[in-house]
Amino acid sequence: MLEPGSTIGILGGGQLGRMMAMAALQLGFRVIGYAPPGDNVASSACDDFFANGWGETNALAAFASKCDRVTWEFENVPLSALEAIPENLLAPHPRALGIAQDRLKEKRFVEDLGATCAPYGRVDSDEDFARAVERIGTPGILKTVRDGYDGKGQWRIASAQEAQGVRFPGRPCIYEGMVEFETEFSVILVRDAGGEVRFWDSTANTHEGGMLVHSVLPAGSLVEAQVDEARAIARATAEALNYVGVLTLEFFATRSGPVFNEMAPRVHNSGHWTIEGAATSQFENHVRAITGLPLGGAGTRFARIDMRNIVGEEAGSAYRILAEEGEPHLHLYGKKEARAGRKMGHVTRVSNDAS
Ligand code: AMP
Repeated sequence: MLEPGSTIGILGGGQLGRMMAMAALQLGFRVIGYAPPGDNVASSACDDFFANGWGETNALAAFASKCDRVTWEFENVPLSALEAIPENLLAPHPRALGIAQDRLKEKRFVEDLGATCAPYGRVDSDEDFARAVERIGTPGILKTVRDGYDGKGQWRIASAQEAQGVRFPGRPCIYEGMVEFETEFSVILVRDAGGEVRFWDSTANTHEGGMLVHSVLPAGSLVEAQVDEARAIARATAEALNYVGVLTLEFFATRSGPVFNEMAPRVHNSGHWTIEGAATSQFENHVRAITGLPLGGAGTRFARIDMRNIVGEEAGSAYRILAEEGEPHLHLYGKKEARAGRKMGHVTRVSNDAS
């Protein structure tokens, strides 16, 4: 167990790091961030911040030498960067990142644990793509194997005719059949070094253009009927990785059961509601798990939860939300540029009202 005043290093400088840092500060830790130069909104919640590239091994070593534990908030931290950090400082173990950074490895790993995935095929050329479309059919999605997030690196293919006009993007991809789902949901768990696992309730999630925009509880009867099966897969994944920290698995709720989409070895946008809505937030429990503190309860404190992302230009008028009824909880991330499709903040509404 780390002592009060110990230092947690966070790799990545985005809003997840900012909210994780705020939870760590509350528990009396010091926080140092590390991310390549840019609009690193985590830096204002850190005691110190290294704005250095992932290839700068001397800077990474200097950062690590100041930390008692190092974690990440960003899934695409290159594994080579993690090699510059002593392994005993890292939590979770980097093997989880190695799998989650590669859509093929990720699907195979979770399939081996019993999950169902959408039909998929590896695409390394125009010929592979044509073969995959023929075998799997349309509609489907072509996705880069690496570096995709929030719908980036994805191309939706509506028909065989449309597929003929699509060229291989030059990076390893997979082609996936489009899943006919009723809704999407995520399983978020925390696991400590002793193997204790706690789950937060699963929200029903809505995405637009591949990006999460809305999460609600209750999630509805279909999700509720599928959560146990999805949790068993998530627990098996955490155990197989000997995972320590918060782990997220995303699923499609279909008429024939949960279909695994992807995993994130980190805190997740669909868990932002836990700050106000759960006994302990995903951010705090991640910090507790990686520092060896007792885990907090993950129970939901309200009958109804509604979390909506604030995207792009919406941020400019976000303070108006504070005048709305129901005591909305507004979070703005302090990003300088409100680009279209950029997550600028979120608002969580909680209530015990019937309706
Ligand atoms: P991903 O980056 O793989 O999580 O994809 C982002 C979002 O795109 C998902 O949350 C879904 O809303 C949608 N999506 C991705 N893959 C599929 C699929 N095979 N079938 C249907 N929708 C998908």
